[in-house]
Amino acid sequence: MVTTKPTARDLRVANRAGVLRALYFGGDASRLELSQITSLSTATVTNVVAELLADGLVREAGSEESQGGRPRTMLTIAADAGYFIGIDLGENVIRIELFDLLLHPIVAQQVVDVDNLHQPQTVIERIVAGVAAVAQAAQLPLEGVIGAGIGVPGMVDHATDVTVFAPSIGWRNVPLLAELERQLPFPVFLDNGAKAMAQAEALLGAGQGVADLAAVLLGTGLGAGIITGNALFRGATNSAGEWGHMKVVLDGRQCRCGSAGCLEAYLGAHALLERWAALAAADVALNQAEEDGINHLVSAASAGDPAAQQVLDEATRYLSLGIANLINLFNPQRIILGGWAGLRLGPAILPDVRRLTREYALEPPFSAVTIDLCHFGQDAVALGAATLALEEFLTAGGKQRSLAMRTGGLVK
Ligand SMILES: [Zn+2]
Repeated sequence: MVTTKPTARDLRVANRAGVLRALYFGGDASRLELSQITSLSTATVTNVVAELLADGLVREAGSEESQGGRPRTMLTIAADAGYFIGIDLGENVIRIELFDLLLHPIVAQQVVDVDNLHQPQTVIERIVAGVAAVAQAAQLPLEGVIGAGIGVPGMVDHATDVTVFAPSIGWRNVPLLAELERQLPFPVFLDNGAKAMAQAEALLGAGQGVADLAAVLLGTGLGAGIITGNALFRGATNSAGEWGHMKVVLDGRQCRCGSAGCLEAYLGAHALLERWAALAAADVALNQAEEDGINHLVSAASAGDPAAQQVLDEATRYLSLGIANLINLFNPQRIILGGWAGLRLGPAILPDVRRLTREYALEPPFSAVTIDLCHFGQDAVALGAATLALEEFLTAGGKQRSLAMRTGGLVK
């Protein structure tokens, strides 16, 4: 590895990044407090804050009494200094959301597109049109957008050409990022949807302050974002966390990935509806949109329908098995359940999932973990995708980096 001596410019960027992160994740602070948090000298903090004030990224927010001294001016991030877009490219819907600099949602737009997800060109057209529509609804020029992130239902290889491999929607080596950056006037970042959700929950939601966690996403497909020691666990080619294709039955049911016996073939939304149709000897469950079908399944079970109850019981067992395996392998402090199907099933099955997971997992790691629903609900993937752009923005000290310098990754 080649190392080069940091230049004065590198140091300046690092100092700006340090002060911005302190304000971003620690909340409003005075110059003196920023100096203590960042270990920068008060003179350096004063210079950096002057730059950030001039750039409009930070503003003064009143003053706070100090013990025996002059009141100290508090500093805060200027939430309206720029915007991020988060995109959840799901298997049933593309969700496009706009966030301010503090990642507060501003306006959301959904683009429902079930039929043409197999066509990358159609998806790109929908995303570009949706981005324009969201900005217009918020009466913001696209130039105010710092960057956008996209969570996708598949594997994203960050090496050389960023490509998406998503067999569930028929994508192999699709250069989604390059296509979008040709059409959008800001940097775009790409990662797997479950990893994006894990980032959102770790930075701002149910995983705040937790160094080791796993976010599991239940939808048509399944996924997991695993964070160990405050960093996303990516593996050699960023495909770590393909939890849906963990084998749970040898020679089991056929999976969409081409293999058999995967967890997704038993716990994915389509698998649950197929199972319900088989048990009820009727195809009513399959003659509706998947989201309606899962809603119908949960309400039928709570109304005492024995076939629906059996499907939920089986789902509970498979989910507990999948979570127990994650607990045994990764020893997380927290498991966070999300995804549209996870959010609908969770309230009905979570108490039983906790009980069964205790049976299936090893006792020491189980005693260290809590299992909860995700904090951001259906917005978690879009928000997590937006954090990809935020992370880059903070690392660059509050500057929009050139398109050639993109990286992904969670750094707290
Ligand atoms: Zn599979």
